[in-house]
Amino acid sequence: ELESLDTIVSLAKARGFIFQSSEIYGGLGAVYDYGPLGAELKRNIRELWWKEMTQRHDNIVGLDAAIFMHPKVWKASGHVDGFNDPMIDDKQSNKRYRADMLVEGHIAKLRGKGKEEEADELQKLLDTAGSREGLCKDLHNIIMDNEIRAPESGAFDWTEVRQFNLMFKTQFGATSSADDDDAVYLRPETAQGIFVNFKNVMDTARQKIPFGIAQVGKAFRNEVVARQFVFRMREFEQMEMQYFVEPGTDGESYENWLSKRLKWHKTLGIREHKLRTHPHPKDKLAHYAASAADIEYQYPIGWQEVEGIHNRTDFDLSQHQEYSGKKLQYYDQKKQKRYTPYVIETSIGLDRAVMMALCDAYREEEVDGDTRTVLKLNPEIAPTKVGIFPLIKKDKLQDLAHKIESDLRADYKVLYDESGSIGKRYRRQDEAGTPFCITVDFDGVESEGEDTVTIRYRDDMTQDRVPVSRLREVIDDKMKS
Ligand code: ATP
Repeated sequence: ELESLDTIVSLAKARGFIFQSSEIYGGLGAVYDYGPLGAELKRNIRELWWKEMTQRHDNIVGLDAAIFMHPKVWKASGHVDGFNDPMIDDKQSNKRYRADMLVEGHIAKLRGKGKEEEADELQKLLDTAGSREGLCKDLHNIIMDNEIRAPESGAFDWTEVRQFNLMFKTQFGATSSADDDDAVYLRPETAQGIFVNFKNVMDTARQKIPFGIAQVGKAFRNEVVARQFVFRMREFEQMEMQYFVEPGTDGESYENWLSKRLKWHKTLGIREHKLRTHPHPKDKLAHYAASAADIEYQYPIGWQEVEGIHNRTDFDLSQHQEYSGKKLQYYDQKKQKRYTPYVIETSIGLDRAVMMALCDAYREEEVDGDTRTVLKLNPEIAPTKVGIFPLIKKDKLQDLAHKIESDLRADYKVLYDESGSIGKRYRRQDEAGTPFCITVDFDGVESEGEDTVTIRYRDDMTQDRVPVSRLREVIDDKMKS
């Protein structure tokens, strides 16, 4: 069982799942690169999601919109004005903190010391701090009144609280003006690409409401508190699906998607007791949402959001209709009525899903007085499916191993390995999460009749002897179970 996130960070680096970006230059904060094993794992999860959405539902279609979008998109969506976090700087260390997180940290400390009443009172103050306008002033007052100190320097030397927009602004074309009105941003969510293409998709995909549009892609947020590995990154990948429904049916659809999505996480192989849903209280909802819930996983850093399910109402389509001047409505032939659809959104961070899969699969087990580290990943998402080993470096064994390798390669990601003791090779694959290892030995090639090999199962380390001609069937079977 996993106790600390550091264990996963080290394993991810050592085995080539995830590296810090630009590591040879000292790294870039909250940006990560996926190595050979990580790239496969991530791709497998992405593919399962895509299949679940666009293949298993005949009324969900895919989209792949650009990262750059017209500047007006972010005005209409509310991100230019509203996608802010209240920040405060510690003048001594020059470190920047999220003001509300500071207060939350202080509240947790009070509770740790048993000062429940004081904590409750402060929590109430935080909950009732002004939205937008008054928020900065209120938060500043709370921090000053309670003499909350900077966590790292211990200093009590704060700047004012300011709103800090999380979007990355970028230079676009040669003549880009510095004017904020023309600013091009890196998208902070993929959803807007779907809303602005609503009409295009409706006109071409011949879908009737209810229908959904699914998309996977990069999103960018200039996160300030970014110290939790790939949980909070500045460049990350989202898998979002926007489901367009008739107003009035949105409540039912929201509940339906929430339970469908929770089920999906279980099919990914995530242990049930590590998952829960967490509905947002009405007064904590984003500006566009009528209801929202998180699907949370119990990471080593606590229960945290992996996926959000939101009822976005007709907010986005109405905003884009107003800002673009284009009709973004739906005409229901049967009922002969026109309306702006409501949107139920499922939004999962792919990187958080990868981190969840790694954390959930991680085990340390005692084996013959030794500890083995093993990733018990669902075979469907495991980066390598089959390891193939000649017991020793002898032509006869190597030839058969290579033959098996090329037979299986067409359908499975396989790995041929002949270096080191067989025990070491098994352990390497255990750490990579490889569910099956095939070993070619003399017993199998020198006995009467058909050649046989052993197949070893990662999770319980049992082995079967199997005729080479049946290997394929055995693996196919186990992949499904
Ligand atoms: P949080 O409250 O944790 O910042 P959020 O509520 O802002 O997340 P959404 O805007 O709902 O997140 O984004 C949908 C999904 O995108 C999240 O459930 C999460 O999995 C993922 N996500 C959001 N921000 C990040 C990030 N900085 N790094 C990695 N994944 C992210």
